[in-house]
Amino acid sequence: MCTQEFFQAQRSQLVGQLALRSLENFESILDYLLSWEVLTWEDYESVSLPGQPLSTLARRLLDIVWNKGGQSCELLFAAVRKAEGADEQTEPESQWSQNVSCPVQDLQRHRPVIVRKIYGHVEGILNLLLERGFITKYECDEIRLPIFTSSQRARRLLDFAKVKDNGVAQFLLQHIHQLPVLPAPFPDAIACKKYMAKLKATVSAQSRFLSTYDGTENLCLENIYTENILEIRKDLSVSASSQKCHDAVELPDIFSDSDCINEDADTVLLVGEAGSGKSTLLQQLHRLWATGRHFQDFLFVFPFTCRQLQSVDKMVSMQTLLFEQCCWPDEGQEEVFQYLLDHPDQVLLTFDGFDEFKFKFTDRDTHCSPNDPTSVQSLLFNLLRGNLMKNAKKVLTSRPHAVSAFLRKYVQKELSLKGFSQEGIELFMRKHHSDPGVADRIVHLVKATSALHGLCHVPVFSWIVSKCHKELLLHGCGSLKTTTDMYLLILQHFVLHASPDDGGWHPRTTTLQPRLPTILHLGRLALWGLGTCNYVFSAKQLWASGVDEEDLSLGFLVRSKSFSQESSAPMEFLHITFQCFFAAFYLLLGADVTPSVIRCLFNHHKKPSRSLAWLFPMSCVQSPEGEEESVTALLQKAEPHNIQITAVFLAGLLSHKHWGLLAECQEASTPLLQKQSHVRWCLARGLKRHFQSIPPAVPGEVKSMHAMPEFVWLIRSLYEMQDEHLAREAVCKLEVGHLKVTYCNIGPAECAALAFVLKNLKQPVALQLDYNSVGDIGVEQLLPCLRICQALYLEENHLQDEDMCTLVHGLKKNSSLKVLKLSNNSISQQGVSALLQVLQSNTSIKSVWLRGNTFTPEEIKQLSLMDTRLLL
Ligand code: ADP
Repeated sequence: MCTQEFFQAQRSQLVGQLALRSLENFESILDYLLSWEVLTWEDYESVSLPGQPLSTLARRLLDIVWNKGGQSCELLFAAVRKAEGADEQTEPESQWSQNVSCPVQDLQRHRPVIVRKIYGHVEGILNLLLERGFITKYECDEIRLPIFTSSQRARRLLDFAKVKDNGVAQFLLQHIHQLPVLPAPFPDAIACKKYMAKLKATVSAQSRFLSTYDGTENLCLENIYTENILEIRKDLSVSASSQKCHDAVELPDIFSDSDCINEDADTVLLVGEAGSGKSTLLQQLHRLWATGRHFQDFLFVFPFTCRQLQSVDKMVSMQTLLFEQCCWPDEGQEEVFQYLLDHPDQVLLTFDGFDEFKFKFTDRDTHCSPNDPTSVQSLLFNLLRGNLMKNAKKVLTSRPHAVSAFLRKYVQKELSLKGFSQEGIELFMRKHHSDPGVADRIVHLVKATSALHGLCHVPVFSWIVSKCHKELLLHGCGSLKTTTDMYLLILQHFVLHASPDDGGWHPRTTTLQPRLPTILHLGRLALWGLGTCNYVFSAKQLWASGVDEEDLSLGFLVRSKSFSQESSAPMEFLHITFQCFFAAFYLLLGADVTPSVIRCLFNHHKKPSRSLAWLFPMSCVQSPEGEEESVTALLQKAEPHNIQITAVFLAGLLSHKHWGLLAECQEASTPLLQKQSHVRWCLARGLKRHFQSIPPAVPGEVKSMHAMPEFVWLIRSLYEMQDEHLAREAVCKLEVGHLKVTYCNIGPAECAALAFVLKNLKQPVALQLDYNSVGDIGVEQLLPCLRICQALYLEENHLQDEDMCTLVHGLKKNSSLKVLKLSNNSISQQGVSALLQVLQSNTSIKSVWLRGNTFTPEEIKQLSLMDTRLLL
């Protein structure tokens, strides 16, 4: 193959090499191409236009070089190698130092070496040029714009000398000879090296122990970190339509060049629901870096949380952010900072919990100066947009709802966390319990309890089960079905732990009464926090909500991980879900919360009308600042998804099972009864509204409904109430032929809820659950509603052969299913064998879609012949 053909064949890889590395890398390739005269000055100008995406410039460069023929293509490969440092030969200075007859050409011919030589001296050279009248103040300012790195300033200076042609090139050449050679881009300078070591030690210490714990145990992350299913979203515009939208990816590969949805962005976005393990994954990333096992391309890693950033109320510059909020350099601050600015590609910044950042992402304010202070939100947004520290990698974690289409424009790759697989749950339990006998018993218990198994797929639930294993092993977990059951269990555990002598809290003799003041104090604080987007609390705020030492000793409030571990560090709830749990308690038991507030909770998304203010007049929570905040106002200002979690808990607490527990905490049960009936009304009406909003069916077609995000939430709340009668009432009269719940983050817990409610539909339905995470545990949860499904779509849901067996088991008892869509999963011939047996006796099934699974062409042929209903 000739060089040009080879060049063309390598084009997409070359685009990656040129566009996905740093701008510095690209410009240094241009230096070589200019110096070897592959590029003319005009070519150079067309590929170095400021403000253009790097990928556009890279493609333009490849076109130019390809048009110039084979030799130029070869030289481009050589330049790429040189810029990567693979080809270490450097030009001896003596080769260019003697010849000053044509200075402009010489500057260009020796450009790569000259840039290396002057990058740390640009400021001094500019002052000299200014003194001698070679350059104006305005031209100087253009070159020293703060958005440029030192090397870029050096290049701008050489470009200036080239176009100016007023003797400045001659002067420069003479001056450059006197300059000392600066160290290579690796930080040889003592201050930088010391800072690297300090930063590594700090991040290592911060990431050593798993954070969400009650202080009674210190668990090394290394010992308990369990692989969590991580997926990358693929760019469907470039992949074939038959391909999967998501692919599994390993943590160490998240910065690879593949699967970028926007090559010009630097931010890797990690999304996952509350408790899915985002913070822990980030902590593992920090750990792997700090212990030298992965991510060593980064010399500096700066971990931040959005909680921490939110508390910064002064104006901050990049330098303040990195040094004051993360790690302070003991010497040479300016030198270290300049190094970071000059080598952004060696820097990684991570931001955890974007959903907790009270400022919404916007690209309205542009801030490019790393030296000038600005608000912390402007700093973060401009970092994400690449206006600051372009080419430094950023990782941002968030719950899905907080990611706007606007923010996605600046995302290079999108990853999602899907929770533990079956093996993951087992491994997690074994890692948490060194006694194999205990671990065996827990694993057995979880596997034997279908609903619990479904919940444990979410890491935070696995943690709760592991934490409460003694109670579970003693009393069994048959009654554990809902999220609320789990959180009450952990409350029970903490109560026991805090007061081991008071006789404990046995499920059958349960009473919350002795702990009611604590629950109300925590609840008041939690609710106020949700309403004001506050997730960390100062001592003053705790005091104002009435939280005292005894309340703290229960263990639900811990020192904030986002701040230093000093005794004055603010407190936060163990996890945001606990904050919502206590807020739900307060809404039910707080003396000042009127029943009508419940409607506000369930109609949160609707803008309040004037009459609402009249409807919910006087329920108030004392804010830590001393002012009274109405509960209604707090609920209206809270982040909608936190409100939804709170509402789910509230419904769960009002379930028949937990009624006694709550009722005895109130002298009169009337307010509670009213609250319960409001919740029932809101849920039933909410679902009806959903169905009613569907336009009537087109003649000849079934009535079809695409679930809105709220639909899944209402279904989950209904499930938490565990009221069969209510579930039946809510859906039995509804008419829908096709229910589409695609891309809705449906995991096993949601499957259980869907089955609980939908099994009551009167008419058969086509249930479409494509592109979710039903996975190995969810299929089992769906079985109860298989009876009403005439079609079941489970495309791209991580299904394996075992799930086929579970499905087959369900199908044996079901004869109404006509269509089964299982394309793009991980089913093999073995899984289909089980299905074939059912197909022999089941004539109602008309087609089973299995495209995009793991069959060889030979197997596809064989299987198609065995049953024509299989579409492979
Ligand atoms: P998120 O940030 O998504 O809300 P967290 O990372 O805080 O979730 O996870 C909640 C809890 O679940 C953690 O404190 C930890 O106990 C457990 N957990 C999460 N991910 C893992 C993991 N990969 N290995 C072990 N435990 C985990």
